[in-house]
Amino acid sequence: MQQFPCPFCGPRAEGEFRYAGDAGVKRPARDCSDQEWAQYLYMRRNAKGAARELWIHTGGCGRWFALARDTVTHVVNGSEPIG
Ligand SMILES: [Zn+2]
Repeated sequence: MQQFPCPFCGPRAEGEFRYAGDAGVKRPARDCSDQEWAQYLYMRRNAKGAARELWIHTGGCGRWFALARDTVTHVVNGSEPIG
């Protein structure tokens, strides 16, 4: 099993974490159009290669962080706290 680096707890087994989406997606304003809201909910780049993703350490500290990962090779290139 792959190890993920939680920025708060250190390296832990991948199974302790839950993926939560692309870290580059920004929630639109409350008065946005239906089209903008649909874009936010459903449209993703899903690009190959380097990605910055949101993860939560559900089996540990329960905190959110951004993980830099290659979606093709699954090589992890670091993590950082968010918020
Ligand atoms: Zn943690």
